[in-house]
Amino acid sequence: MINVAMNRSHSESPTNAPRSDSTPYACPLCHDTLRERISGAWTCERCRRDYDNRRGVDVFVTDEELKALRGNHEPHTLFDGAYHHIRRFSPMTIMYYNAWVERLLGMLPSTEGVLLELMCSGGEVSRRLGARFSQVFALDVDVPALESLAHDLLERGETKIRPVCANAAGLPFPNGVIDVVAIIGGLHHARSILPSVLAEIARVLRPGGALVASEPANDHRLTRAVRHWQYRRSALQGHDADEDGFTSNELRDAMAKVGLRLEEYQVFGFLAYPLMGNADILPWLATARSLRLGRALLTLDRLFEQTPLIRNLGWASLFRAVKL
Ligand SMILES: [Zn+2]
Repeated sequence: MINVAMNRSHSESPTNAPRSDSTPYACPLCHDTLRERISGAWTCERCRRDYDNRRGVDVFVTDEELKALRGNHEPHTLFDGAYHHIRRFSPMTIMYYNAWVERLLGMLPSTEGVLLELMCSGGEVSRRLGARFSQVFALDVDVPALESLAHDLLERGETKIRPVCANAAGLPFPNGVIDVVAIIGGLHHARSILPSVLAEIARVLRPGGALVASEPANDHRLTRAVRHWQYRRSALQGHDADEDGFTSNELRDAMAKVGLRLEEYQVFGFLAYPLMGNADILPWLATARSLRLGRALLTLDRLFEQTPLIRNLGWASLFRAVKL
C-alpha cells in the first residue's frame, strides 16, 4: 500500500497566477468576448455571468454545474492523489507517457499556435508539449487534478500553460482560435455527450486545425473479448461500460457530422500499454527502479506493430482529424 503526500494543502497555490499572454477566452454560454474586470476575472456582459481564477485555475462553470458534470464520471476516473503521484513519478509510467505523447506529436502537421488539451487530468500532454506551442490550455472538470497541475506549474515557473476548469461540451473559447486539440484517453469517458464535445472541438478549431487523440481501440473482436475478460477481474477498472472506447467507423462518422475529417488512424499498445499504464499494477510500478524492462516492452510493442495478424490487435488507437 503506498501512501503519498499528494494531499498536502493546495492553499499554498496562489490565486491569479501571472499570465504569459492575453487569453482568447469567450463566454462558454454565448461565445461573446469576455471583459476582464481585474486580472484573472472576467464578465460576460450579455449573460451577466462572472468567471474567475481560483488557486491558479481559470474557472468557467458554476459549482452546481461542476457537481452535475462530475456526477457523470465514474468515481475511479476522478482525481486520486496516490494514483496521480505514481503517474507523475513512477519512472516506468513517465517513460510510457513520454512515448505515448511522442507518438501523438508525430501525428501533428505542425506545432505552432494554440494547444488545447481536453479531459487533461494531470495535464500529461500539456506538460510535455507546452514548450512547443505559443499558448496552452489544459482543460478538465476535475478541480483537484487541475489545482495540482497549477501548483506544479507555479513551482516550475511555467506561465504558458493555463489550467482551465470547464465543460468540454461548452468550451470557453471563440470560434476558430485553437490550432490543435489533444486528448489522451478522455473521449470514451464522455460517450453520452460525444456529439456535443466533438461539435465544440470543431467550433473552436481553426479551419485546417487538428484534433489528435488516443482512445481504447475497439475494432477487433478479440481485443474486445480480452478487454471484457480483464475488466471482470480488475480491482480498479471494469465498472465503466465506456471503457470499450470506439470503433474507427464510430469515430469517423461522429466526427464527419461536425465537419472533422478522420485523416489517420493507427492501432498500438500490446504489452507496454497494459503493463506500464495499467491502473491495477501502477502501485507496483512506483517501486520499479529499472528502466530496462520499460525499454524492452516498448521495443517489443514496435515489433508487434510490424507483425501481420498481431498488428491489428493493439489496445489503443491514435488518430488525427482535421477541421474542414
Ligand atoms: Zn455569455
